[in-house]
Amino acid sequence: MTDLADLTIVAAGRGLRSGEFSSVDLLDAVTRRASITEAQLHAYLTLDKKGARSAAEAADAAFADGKDVGPLQGIPIALKDNMCTIGVETTAASQMLAGWKPPYDATVVRRLKDAGAVVTGKTNLDEFAMGSSTENSAFGETRNPWNPDFVPGGSSGGSAAAVAVGSAFGAFGSDTGGSIRQPAALCGVVGMKPTYGLVSRYGLIAFASSLDQIGPFARSVEDSATLLDAIAGWDRFDSTSIDGAVPNFSGSLDGGVGGLRIGIVSDLMGEGIDTQVRGAVSGMADKLSEAGAEVVEVGLPSTEFALSAYYLIAPAECSSNLARFDGVRYGHRSNVEGTTEDMMSHTRAEGFGPEVIRRILLGTYALSAGYYDAFYGQAQRVRTLVRRDFASAYEKVDVLISPTSPTTAFPVGERSADPIAMYYSDVCTIPSNLSGEPAISVPIGLDDKGLPIGFQVMAPSLGEELMYRVAAAVESISEFTKRAPLASSEVVAP
Ligand code: GLN
Repeated sequence: MTDLADLTIVAAGRGLRSGEFSSVDLLDAVTRRASITEAQLHAYLTLDKKGARSAAEAADAAFADGKDVGPLQGIPIALKDNMCTIGVETTAASQMLAGWKPPYDATVVRRLKDAGAVVTGKTNLDEFAMGSSTENSAFGETRNPWNPDFVPGGSSGGSAAAVAVGSAFGAFGSDTGGSIRQPAALCGVVGMKPTYGLVSRYGLIAFASSLDQIGPFARSVEDSATLLDAIAGWDRFDSTSIDGAVPNFSGSLDGGVGGLRIGIVSDLMGEGIDTQVRGAVSGMADKLSEAGAEVVEVGLPSTEFALSAYYLIAPAECSSNLARFDGVRYGHRSNVEGTTEDMMSHTRAEGFGPEVIRRILLGTYALSAGYYDAFYGQAQRVRTLVRRDFASAYEKVDVLISPTSPTTAFPVGERSADPIAMYYSDVCTIPSNLSGEPAISVPIGLDDKGLPIGFQVMAPSLGEELMYRVAAAVESISEFTKRAPLASSEVVAP
């Protein structure tokens, strides 16, 4: 008998509707799974047992009344702890916000609740989403469910790990430079970043506003599309949200790759990419071509500079966004005696961890008079070049493919003392953040250490349907259904 915690969202939804089990049963299954895995994993910062229980009971009551608001009704879902949840602690994994309970729900959270989802709790992350390993959390790191000596990736490592072990059926994270796709790759689950503006950022604690996007983690491509369906679309509370018709993503999975032109990004297949990762990605490219796609090599020459541009733009925006944490309105306030300025500077020194401080210093410097054009201005020009590279690639091909991460998971502690090595983890994911275009990571196999390898599919702006169609083909070709050893059994396909 399959443990309910191992079902996909789609399979769980079928069981709920046939009356085979209830939403409370599903919640009990993920809670049981969390009680087995959390001691080693630490995927969650907060488990909202009471709130989840009453949401699950409400979903069961709705089913009993014949009310059905859609595929997420009664499904336990986790949220990265940088999304505001009314009355439930939201910390961004920072001492600065320890104990803070937001007075409102983020738009994504409100939409999930309206869709009948059961919010299980808040997952761990690198402080303020700055990092690639979830080691920068002020409340202890999350571990990789395939091998707890390794990192889960980051910054949404808690969400990725929870979905991988079945302590949630799906989860949401935020992706500024790869924070959904890279941990998804390292934990063997599906993670996607939507087109900038497709999903509201209202209530997401801001890191770098021109790059931040919320997106889903799931155990199948179909689940991922189902989760995106529930949250996408215009929001009057986010001035950058796109006002337009939203397609039905979960209805866009069939069709295969026959006749499609697929570009494999040569600049992301060379030096610095682990040989096993490269081998798995080119093996998949061959299979896509056997399945009827025309696969060609495509260059994105400016990607060479994308990482450097990102590590100026993101810190610059973060230095501005994080200026609000000054001890005055909310969050930590230092007890130091002295002037207001003393209070503010001590508050910030006490509340922020070392990586956040490094980013604020870098960003403030890059924006300062006399340096602005040389650093920030130059980085913005590189961003334009990256966008142009993508635009000219999409004149030749329909979608682009690459590894998601240059390596599989790395040991805990290995890169934490070396920021440059850590930053390099994002080399394959950052270009799509700079261009604002959608991208997804799909697991395609394991390396010889038994750690998952992620395959990235990138598409033009608002090309999610095509991206999902290719991702579904990759998923079915790879037949990757293995589950992290920390979870007990196999995922049941829908
Ligand atoms: N790892 C990248 C960084 O540290 C990306 C983070 C993110 O996407 N939130 O900035």
